[in-house]
Amino acid sequence: MAEKILRIENLIKKYSGVTKLHDINLSVEKGEVVVILGPSGCGKSTLLRCINALEPVHGGKIFIDDDEITAKNAPLSLLRQRIGMVFQSYDLFSHLSVLDNIILAPLKVQKRNKKEVTEEALKWLERVGLGGKAHKYPRQLSGGEKQRVAIVRTLCMHPEVLLLDEITAALDPEMVHEVLNVVLDLSKDDTTMLIVTHEMRFARAIADRIVFLVEGKIEEISPPEVFFTTPKTERAKQFLESFEYEDVKKEKA
Ligand code: ADP
Ligand code: MG
Repeated sequence: MAEKILRIENLIKKYSGVTKLHDINLSVEKGEVVVILGPSGCGKSTLLRCINALEPVHGGKIFIDDDEITAKNAPLSLLRQRIGMVFQSYDLFSHLSVLDNIILAPLKVQKRNKKEVTEEALKWLERVGLGGKAHKYPRQLSGGEKQRVAIVRTLCMHPEVLLLDEITAALDPEMVHEVLNVVLDLSKDDTTMLIVTHEMRFARAIADRIVFLVEGKIEEISPPEVFFTTPKTERAKQFLESFEYEDVKKEKA
């Protein structure tokens, strides 16, 4: 049986007493790429934030391997290092170079060797097409370049699971591809990922499974070939149609 790196069991999350995630059950295998789709406000970010222990939960359990993230006395700073998260806004430190942004946490938090971490950072920068940018500052980079630095910074912490929350949502269209191509490339390494995106072609290309979330409930879990051709619910059909319209608008523009 394939190894489950992440298990979410009967997860419930509320804000101000209102339930926003209803009894979520989801297991992710090592190396698997799960894409979470759903309308705005359905709880995608909340789910990722619960997995990264950025939010208290109101029911259920989340495990990374055999360690319970939601346990009362869970060592959160240690558990969080095992889960990397990249958001829409690449919050790089403006006063630090690209390289120093990347090696900061491995040195300070993980107490690793500077030479080893620097070599690793430079290798990753090369791989994501930023070989010459190590000594630049964030203000000298484009949005797409900053987001690629943010991905490298997360990878250098060696997370077991990578959470990506709409990482191209703030980028100009021409930069979206360069970032998505980096993520597609990473998926070949057996990196376990949970991805929230509104880029449907990318979702279809990268996902092993699609999770479709509506109003805090999982409506459907399907392989991408199934979800994008024969979705099980009317709600999923409508959701996909709204993107076809977006595609037509983009082509006309
Ligand atoms: P998505 O990422 O799918 O667009 P979110 O997870 O951000 O959705 O939000 C899910 C629901 O939870 C929404 O109704 C949103 O208004 C609510 N919500 C999210 N974060 C908070 C918060 N910090 N406080 C109160 N309500 C929140
Ligand atoms: Mg969100």
